[in-house]
Amino acid sequence: MSILCRVDDKMVPLYRVMWLAATPHFCGEEDCIREGCYEVRLEQGESVWASANERDNLQQHLERWQGGLGYEDGEEHDGTW
Ligand SMILES: [Zn+2]
Repeated sequence: MSILCRVDDKMVPLYRVMWLAATPHFCGEEDCIREGCYEVRLEQGESVWASANERDNLQQHLERWQGGLGYEDGEEHDGTW
């Protein structure tokens, strides 16, 4: 599997993701264009903004990727190496 995951118009390397928002963005600004999007925080204070689908997809990638010790599609992993 790829270590890149598509978020918005960017291909984000999984190892750059610090956290994902669990809830959609809401700041109360009338003209906020990110309302309903999920913040994805990257290293160095950058953020990208994911749709609900992109966020779910990214979460799945991150859970499978496990800090760079990625394994092949379809391969079972029991938690020990
Ligand atoms: Zn906002």
